[in-house]
Amino acid sequence: MTDSTNPETIVLHAGYRSDPTTGAVAVPIYQTTSFQFQDTGHASRLFALQELGNIYTRIMNPTQDALEQRIVALDGGVAAMAVASGQAASALAVQNLAWAGDNIVSSTDLYGGTWNLFAHTLKQQGIEVRFVDPSDPENFRRATDDRTRAYYAETLPNPKLKVFPIKEVADIGRPLGIPLIMDNTAAPIICRPFDHGAAITIYSLTKYIGGHGNSIGGIIVDSGTFDWEAVPERQPALTTPDESYHGAVWTEAVKPLGPIAYIIRARVTLLRDLGPAISPQNAFNFIQGLETLPLRMREHCRNAVAVAEYLGKHDKVTSVIHPSNQTGEDKRRADTYLKGGLGGLVGFELSGGKEAGQAFIEALKMFYHVANIGDARSLAIHPASTTHSQLTADEQVATGVTDGYVRLSIGIEHIDDIIADLDQALASV
Ligand code: PLP
Repeated sequence: MTDSTNPETIVLHAGYRSDPTTGAVAVPIYQTTSFQFQDTGHASRLFALQELGNIYTRIMNPTQDALEQRIVALDGGVAAMAVASGQAASALAVQNLAWAGDNIVSSTDLYGGTWNLFAHTLKQQGIEVRFVDPSDPENFRRATDDRTRAYYAETLPNPKLKVFPIKEVADIGRPLGIPLIMDNTAAPIICRPFDHGAAITIYSLTKYIGGHGNSIGGIIVDSGTFDWEAVPERQPALTTPDESYHGAVWTEAVKPLGPIAYIIRARVTLLRDLGPAISPQNAFNFIQGLETLPLRMREHCRNAVAVAEYLGKHDKVTSVIHPSNQTGEDKRRADTYLKGGLGGLVGFELSGGKEAGQAFIEALKMFYHVANIGDARSLAIHPASTTHSQLTADEQVATGVTDGYVRLSIGIEHIDDIIADLDQALASV
């Protein structure tokens, strides 16, 4: 356990010291479905939420709990819920507030999987997602109506890599009773959205937090600072009786346990009913990654700046997309919201268009050609022919993807080897 506020210490010591029965220092993998109750009174207190404790691994598990507590400490929140994927985290984060007939307002600058979830699957469930351009924060207010339950955005969305105006949009939402949910997947450690007024963060653990690229997982973190009762009619999921839990009103029922109405509801209703639980093994795998996250983020960020500088001087590169070379309001947002690094993602455009983009990818020897980001290894992809190939030409341009655009997720290999691989691949296009 630790009281430290330094991420390097938190990731090693927060939330777990040693196993109470064996003294094991590494967090054990509690590979069990169920937990034996001490007696019938204990069982009924757990089910009634009079006492928090382990019941069944679909809803909670001690390995998962250690992971959650560490990420809570890192983000400065009060409680979290780890789930089976980043996709499950974004879906549940929204479904925990919005029902059929409701809407949320989301930034247009989103990971493609989140875009599909919002534009299609949530729509089929009756939840409307209103997409707005985040360059003007007031667009969020303009798209809001009485049924708006949340605002949603990514801190450092690719391919544009323009940092989201967190405080500006959180400040619009708070007096209206609307929380800001931030997907901070691309910026752990370097951005703490709660410090700027966000109510909820979500992460794909699959990316930087794991870093090893061996597990899929996600997490939702509750800041505990959003007042769900301030405009009670805005948040009926938390302020009206829940039939599935003997009429519990979540904001009142959990008061003795702390400001955790949002995350408790997500766990004991959505995780209970929809079931996207993280496995204990994967929770353990993410704890292993988490322990070195601050060190890795430093290297990702340092290497990415060096790559952006190198690409900026290359005669076959027409533009480099990276927060280090932004100006005006984009630069101000990057300076305000990113601390200790500008992220590990770099985009660039090749003068030779689509053919050059594909040829460049083919020529890479050390970089992996994969759709992932945030791995300790360097990764590359040509979005126009892969992740964004289903979009129309106009949609590609709107999302920041041109024919010659290449996305790099810069790893933590030695910078000389990263640049050497880029150099030889650029020489061949
Ligand atoms: N959010 C962002 C920003 C992502 O990049 C991804 C995956 O690429 C996700 C969410 C979804 O995460 P997962 O692949 O773990 O489901």
